[in-house]
Amino acid sequence: MVTHLEKQQAPTGMASCRFCGTALRHTFVDLGMSPLCESYLSAEQLNQMEPFYPLHVYVCEACFLVQLEEYVSPEHIFTEYAYFSSYADAWLRHARNYTDLMVERFGLNAASHVVEVASNDGYLLQYFVEKNIPVLGIEPARNVARVAIEKGVPTLVEFFGVACARRLAAEGKQADLLLGNNVLAQVPDLNDFVAGLKILLKPQGVITIEFPHLMRMVAENQFDTIYHEHFSYFSFITAEKIFAAHGLTLFDVEELPTHGGSLRIYARHAEDHSEPVGERAVALRRREQAAGIPDMAYYAAFAEQVKETKRKLIEFLIQAKRAGKSVAGYGAPGKGNTLLNYCGIRTDFVDYTVDRNPYKQGKFLPGTHIPIYHPDKIKETQPDYVLILPWNFKDEIMQQMAMIHAWGGQFLVPIPEVKVYP
Ligand SMILES: [Zn+2]
Repeated sequence: MVTHLEKQQAPTGMASCRFCGTALRHTFVDLGMSPLCESYLSAEQLNQMEPFYPLHVYVCEACFLVQLEEYVSPEHIFTEYAYFSSYADAWLRHARNYTDLMVERFGLNAASHVVEVASNDGYLLQYFVEKNIPVLGIEPARNVARVAIEKGVPTLVEFFGVACARRLAAEGKQADLLLGNNVLAQVPDLNDFVAGLKILLKPQGVITIEFPHLMRMVAENQFDTIYHEHFSYFSFITAEKIFAAHGLTLFDVEELPTHGGSLRIYARHAEDHSEPVGERAVALRRREQAAGIPDMAYYAAFAEQVKETKRKLIEFLIQAKRAGKSVAGYGAPGKGNTLLNYCGIRTDFVDYTVDRNPYKQGKFLPGTHIPIYHPDKIKETQPDYVLILPWNFKDEIMQQMAMIHAWGGQFLVPIPEVKVYP
């Protein structure tokens, strides 16, 4: 479908845009060298060499896609993945609300087929199963897919793209609702992925895709959402361009609070005119234009903003340590690893972190080697500050951990800039 795009070949040694092929000459932000953010270490691995890769983000001057080069193959990243969606209550609520909304808006029932790409541990499809709506999950991480299957969510262990979509379509498994949450950013071959969506969608079917909104990342300094597993960062305007190149029209969009501000885009076949392009899509496109999304100057200011955020956080931690305070972390999310590695924060500032995911407990954060414990550790050691690394769940975490007030503990949130919550 993209053969009509003009491919400008990049000079040797220079990366090219994963959507349009233009040479990438403009840095968006350079976060230095960092380990893969999901590669948690066991005690034995602490004394071994650890691979670090550049976290250098570019913006394409032709289509404004913000992107990282693919330094590590997705097979390496995703076949044994530590992220289980079901460990976050807020995320499960989000999945349940989504299910209710889709069933009502598109009249889904026992005759419909819902397909989720990157279905993780079945955190979302389980709610469609509850309503007796047939589902299929597609998930490349074997250990995560196994959990979904045990839950009664049929799941294929596979990477999604044209080949997978063609096979499923030939088997009569096209989708009335085709969804992918937080997967678009992680797709190395973006054109193959979106072309696959087109193939797997029934003629009147609807695609919904959620991804972090680039405009929010820039406005709120969320540079820690950049990691090697996230190859692309999208504005609505650029997403619209990419889907259009594959014969898909974005007819609606919602702005969501998830992951610090996400978009849920609604797509249909360009040739299916049953859903007109709605007011929300038109309004967001206009707002992005006004903010400067289709203008290189918009992207140039981000790097300095990121450096200043680092200086402020380190400044705070130095003062706290000089005053004899103790600091513990809460959570071991990917974004925490970008933040801690970029800022050079190790056990000299943060004694340990805790996580509810038993897969991470007893391990160490990549690069910084901060140990990860069960959340009870906070009650035992009573730190003065608890640094919340998954700041997108900060309200939920502050509620869960309210007992730190008993010993005068305070919460620390690093993004958009360091702030104490007494
Ligand atoms: Zn491009």
